[in-house]
Amino acid sequence: MAKIAILDRKCTGCGLCAQHCPFGAIDMKDGKPDLNAACKVCGICVKSCPEKAIIKLETKVDSVDKSKWNNILVFAEVSGGQLHPVSLELIGKGLELAKNVGYKVKTVLVGSGVTAFAEELRHYGVSEVAVYDDEALSYFRADAYAACVEDYIKYAHPSVVLVGATSLGRSLAPRLSTRFHTGLTADCTKLELRENTDLVQIRPAFGGNIMAQIITTNTRPQFATVRYKVMNPAARNEEASGAIVNRKIPKGVSESRASCVSVQPIPPKKSISDAEILVVGGRGLQKEADLSMIKELAALLGGDWATTRPLVEKGWNTNDRQIGLSGRTVRPRLIITCGVSGAIQFTACMNGSDHIVAINTDKNAPIFDVAHVAIVGDLYEIVPALIKQLKEARP
Ligand SMILES: Cc1cc2nc3c(=O)[nH]c(=O)nc-3n(C[C@H](O)[C@H](O)[C@H](O)COP(=O)(O)OP(=O)(O)OC[C@H]3O[C@@H](n4cnc5c(N)ncnc54)[C@H](O)[C@@H]3O)c2cc1C
Repeated sequence: MAKIAILDRKCTGCGLCAQHCPFGAIDMKDGKPDLNAACKVCGICVKSCPEKAIIKLETKVDSVDKSKWNNILVFAEVSGGQLHPVSLELIGKGLELAKNVGYKVKTVLVGSGVTAFAEELRHYGVSEVAVYDDEALSYFRADAYAACVEDYIKYAHPSVVLVGATSLGRSLAPRLSTRFHTGLTADCTKLELRENTDLVQIRPAFGGNIMAQIITTNTRPQFATVRYKVMNPAARNEEASGAIVNRKIPKGVSESRASCVSVQPIPPKKSISDAEILVVGGRGLQKEADLSMIKELAALLGGDWATTRPLVEKGWNTNDRQIGLSGRTVRPRLIITCGVSGAIQFTACMNGSDHIVAINTDKNAPIFDVAHVAIVGDLYEIVPALIKQLKEARP
């Protein structure tokens, strides 16, 4: 940690620091520089000051004793009376990470009637299922749920806490990381665990132009959220393992200041994230009407259709059928992309698909870096030919 200090007795008020600051973080007030919240502690003002009146102070950061924080905790989400499948994906990733450092994977269930899911979770290789089951937890209230998970973290001291990047998880995880004054990385696309137990949280950053590797070096636990369909789910074992631990409901639940007035469930909608086969149209399509061949090919294959973002921006499609960072993550058995270039914002959310077939006229298109089958050619020839063959093959 560092901060900038301005030495009043040396400052002549020349204003050079304010002129050089690339972030506009220095205001001149009464002829003297004054730092505002935009300061990034880059140190350019230090170099620009001819009087050496600006200094950068390094402060020592207290680091936690990492050996006291062990194992991986997965928040097993139950919503709408169902265990969210992202929970099994997080357990799968947790088990993979845990192997490297000899950790165990534990889960925590919070809600009303959630004990019923504890027994099932024992079949996924976890060493403990902690349960906070109470009628007061019937509906998600962020403060009440956070109080339960906080209680368990204080008891179990996990090094890593994984939460699904669902609406519920996105509300819960930041509250928890704030309570522990520690880091949280949202929407990780990849996770690795170093030998020193630092979690490398990888996700696209700066508009997807780089894959950032984020680590929480001085604090524990390390919080990460991961979207549904990004990781492989844990395999179910016949044998159950691990213990179910029923935890006492912490005081924070009764002290919750939120109350649920009414709940109006949104009828479940078919999502492209659940499709086993997807045909995707990109900007290689010349007009909206040409989407019909994408839809026809999808229908003939018994699958669903989607597009890239530019087609949503043109108004040809809605956001719920857009694949990508600002759309949905998909992981079908088969995905056929037609006229899609393969920008990172798109591929990061489909590159876990089992079979990727890409059709593009440009042999250097980045989509071919992730494709298992690369078809260099015109979608206006290839898609109709595939449709024709599929129709002919029909009994
Ligand atoms: C913060 C941020 C978030 C974003 N989120 C998303 C997102 O969620 N989803 C998303 O898709 N994008 C997203 N983008 C945009 C992304 O960067 C790309 O611009 C976008 O994915 C490109 O879409 P495209 O491949 O359809 O179009 P293009 O990049 O224009 O590619 C069209 C491709 O079609 C090929 N082609 C042209 N004619 C034919 C033909 N006749 N036959 C075969 N191939 C042909 C071309 O060779 C080209 O490769 C985001 C960008 C930012 C900055």
